[in-house]
Amino acid sequence: MAERIERLAAKVAEAGLDWLLVSAPLNVRWLTGFTGSNGVALCPADPGHHPAVLLTDFRYSEQVAAQAPSAWQIEIASNDLLGAGLAEHFPVPDTGGDSYGAVGYDDRHLTVAQLGALQAAFDGRASFEPLSGSVETLRLIKSASEVEKIGAAAELADAAMIELLDGGLVGRTELEVALILESAMRRLGAQELSFPPIVAAGAHGALPHAEPRDVTIAADEMVTIDWGAKLDGYCSDCTRTYLTGEVNDVRSQIYDLVLEAQIAAAAAVRPGPTGREVDLVARKIIEEGGYGENFGHGLGHGVGLDVHEAPRLSRHGDAPLEAGMIVTVEPGIYVAGECGVRIEDLLLVTADGSKVLNGLPKARQLVS
Ligand code: ZN
Ligand code: ZN
Repeated sequence: MAERIERLAAKVAEAGLDWLLVSAPLNVRWLTGFTGSNGVALCPADPGHHPAVLLTDFRYSEQVAAQAPSAWQIEIASNDLLGAGLAEHFPVPDTGGDSYGAVGYDDRHLTVAQLGALQAAFDGRASFEPLSGSVETLRLIKSASEVEKIGAAAELADAAMIELLDGGLVGRTELEVALILESAMRRLGAQELSFPPIVAAGAHGALPHAEPRDVTIAADEMVTIDWGAKLDGYCSDCTRTYLTGEVNDVRSQIYDLVLEAQIAAAAAVRPGPTGREVDLVARKIIEEGGYGENFGHGLGHGVGLDVHEAPRLSRHGDAPLEAGMIVTVEPGIYVAGECGVRIEDLLLVTADGSKVLNGLPKARQLVS
């Protein structure tokens, strides 16, 4: 964690700021280890001269002491953290003056009202400057322990799916399937879910983010299930489309086309290519198969403390992939009123390629 302060401090200095105020809960957690719901971290540009400060309130005084390493100076505030609380506990400048300098804030996470409260509380003693994405950039590359946690979450989610499939799909409603998956994940040790499971049978599968319905799953259709577990704060994310019997040739072909695109794009994941280039590998195959218009979302996204985080594997993915990133590869084809297929794996980018973190088979699978 001290190393994370150093790396963030370098970014704060590079931006010409004196401090960075970190308020998004997942960023505070990543930086300090503190998991409480009310915390604000203040990272100095120069940790040699100024302390890194972690501010919370009385409810968390024991928890914060146990979770945050000694590199953080812990302050318990009685007022709003993003306002008078921060102003009261801001480290006194070593210049002896009454100006705190330039304080960066993340304008993607701080509301206009919060910024107003800070400006009022500091009354001109600090200038607040927007600087977004610095912690997210550091979160892109996972540490060995983060990789381990995400891998464990993926294994747990696999085990929950195996339990579900043992009991079959036909005759259960989409909502029942979601509940079985959810309770299995929790029983196996998940703290919570990465997101509520998507269970979409038949024509409902044409909605990429379908909500499970109180509708019974019939034989001879396709069922798309997208689910993930959260373990130690880290998410997993996986999708499979199962067949509940015989499906017509068009649907079989759609399945095989998505599978071909998924396998080819996953094989392209390695350090070097941009997210856009990897997205294109899958997109070309689906376009050539005649379903380009039916693959309307990006190929994948990063996964970590957040189930959707950087980098993007889509036409907006400008950054090259690097070893240590964890990304999904999830092409899909959605035919309105007919059916949908999506296949999603979770991949760790390694020095010379990638490693799949989940383990369920993805060839066409019959589940009655
Ligand atoms: Zn997913
Ligand atoms: Zn996903």
